[in-house]
Amino acid sequence: MSIVIGLTGGIGSGKTTVANLFADNYGIDIIDADIVAREVVEPNTVGLNAIIKKFGADILLEDGTLNRAKLREAIFSQPELKQWLNELLHPLIREKMLHDIKLSKSPYCLLVVPLMVENNLQTLTNRLLVVDVDEQTQIERTQQRDNVSIEQIKNILASQATRQQRLDAADDVITNFGDSPALTLQIAQLHRQYLKMDHDL
Ligand code: ATP
Repeated sequence: MSIVIGLTGGIGSGKTTVANLFADNYGIDIIDADIVAREVVEPNTVGLNAIIKKFGADILLEDGTLNRAKLREAIFSQPELKQWLNELLHPLIREKMLHDIKLSKSPYCLLVVPLMVENNLQTLTNRLLVVDVDEQTQIERTQQRDNVSIEQIKNILASQATRQQRLDAADDVITNFGDSPALTLQIAQLHRQYLKMDHDL
């Protein structure tokens, strides 16, 4: 099994950008919690079958996949349903991430979890790498990428761990204020460090 490097950061900090550079430049396997969260509710999964049982087949789109907008709407004002869903999905997501980690063949793998610190999922990792930027940069880049209002982004920022909480939990930090060469250089240094770690174990 590979060494697991947890990768986290706030909204728009550059997690996906960083993960893609590790994958493209060094062939590192990426396990992305957002992708896993979709996989565990694909058709014919334990996850989707339980949701159908709870909400009825109306929760599906015509093609048999989950109608996410409808599910979001159904749990929006019902905390007990939201809790039920979290209690169903969180163990399934965790189990699938562990399964994918076991399958990884690269010298180390990256487990990308946006809410790693908030959900204390760094327990699944050997080391935690945090992508760090200031809030203003997060807001500007997210706005450019998603074309959403500043208020919406600020609400998401307020619901996430603070920059300091993430930095306190970090073993390694990538500062992502700079340009693309600056980022590539930091990733090259971390890659060397993580390869060495693998040999030391
Ligand atoms: P989220 O958690 O919101 O999905 P993320 O942490 O995965 O975001 P990215 O999608 O990688 O963040 O980056 C956010 C935006 O900022 C993207 O449009 C990306 O292209 C851009 N970006 C990332 N790093 C830089 C950089 N160093 N300079 C300029 N733009 C950047």
